[in-house]
Order: sequence, then structure tokens, then C-alpha cells
Amino acid sequence: MSLPRLVSATANPHKVAEIADILDGLVELLPRPADLPDVVEDAGTLEGNARLKAAAVCVATGMPSVSDDTGLFVNALDGQPGVDTAYYAGPNATYAENRAKLLAALADSSDRSALFRTVVMVVRPDGSELVATGVCHGTIATAELGTRGFGYDPIFIPREGDGRSFSQMTDAEKNAISHRGRAFQALVTALRERATIRPD
Ligand code: IMP
Repeated sequence: MSLPRLVSATANPHKVAEIADILDGLVELLPRPADLPDVVEDAGTLEGNARLKAAAVCVATGMPSVSDDTGLFVNALDGQPGVDTAYYAGPNATYAENRAKLLAALADSSDRSALFRTVVMVVRPDGSELVATGVCHGTIATAELGTRGFGYDPIFIPREGDGRSFSQMTDAEKNAISHRGRAFQALVTALRERATIRPD
């Protein structure tokens, strides 16, 4: 049986590499066409933003497309940065600036619990959708730990790990327990279960 074929709605090289690893042998992931304009992610929810991205690529390519949207929800900050995780320290914030702002915001906090949530969405040319989610609970470190990965990896310590941050883990260790890993695993399961979503 041929593998489901999906066009990636993300062009972020860190994320594409992770997703390709997770889907290796399960889904044929095609790259996002380079000439597509960026999608404004203003839906206000992870699911809504994922839909905007997948639908835009699906319309442009005429092929089933897959997108993902992730937020970091920090309990002591009433769930912030949440849907605004990428822009926590401002519209053009770097990963390092976002991490520094979060460490400062939690400087006096004894509750450092947080979770990453990823919503993955497939949109097909006939308008049908498939949604899967993945969650990873953890804590925000008091200082940066490790240099691998991207985003908040150096300051996120997953609950199911051994005390290391995502940045201190191998790709395989992170993908096995991460929000994105879980969301894409759930997507693969759903793709297999639902014949209607399989490409021709
Ligand atoms: P996106 O929706 O996947 O682009 O994620 C939004 C933001 O969340 C990114 O800009 C990163 O700062 C952060 N983020 C998403 N996934 C991860 C991860 O696996 N590790 C660390 N940070 C992440």
C-alpha cells in the first residue's frame, strides 16, 4: 500500500526536520512550495491557526496538506503565552528573547508547571479535515539547560523525562514524548483508521 502523501504547510527547517523524522516511513511529506506567501495566523486558537495554514497550502497545491500549531501554556501565568507563544516578547522576537522574557516572568514563582500543546490538521481538496492533538507536561527551568533544538527547548523540562531539558535530549528522545511527536503519531493512527482521508 502506498504511503499517504501530504504537503507540509510549515517551512520552518527545525520543525520540518522533526516532523519528517516522526513521519518517516509512515507518510510521504512533500515540502511547502517556496513561492507561497506567509499565512497570517490570527484565528485566536491553535486549531484555527492550523486550519488557516493547511487550507492555504491545500488551495495553492490542490493536494492534501498538513499543518501544526503549538502553544506553551504556563500555569502561573494563567496559560500565557499560549496561542502567542511565538511572539511572546514581541512580533519579531527571537527564540532567545522569548525564553528570557519567560524566565523573568517566572523569577519569583514557585509554580513552574507548564504544558506544550500541538494541534495537527490535515485539509483535503474536498474540504474534509482531520485533527489530532498532542500534549507534553513539564516545568520551566530556572536557567537555560543545553544547546540543541529550538524555541523554548533549553528551558522546558518534560515530566516524563529524567530531569533533562528538551535541549539536552537526542531528537529521538524528544520526539518520543513531545507534544509534536504525540500529535503526529495520533494523526498517523487517524489516517490509517479513516479510509476517507487517504489520498487516491
Ligand atoms: P509553532 O506553532 O509550531 O510555530 O510554535 C509556536 C512557537 O512555540 C515556536 O515559535 C516556538 O517558540 C515554540 N515551540 C513550538 N514547538 C516547540 C518545541 O518543540 N520546543 C520548543 N519550543 C517550541
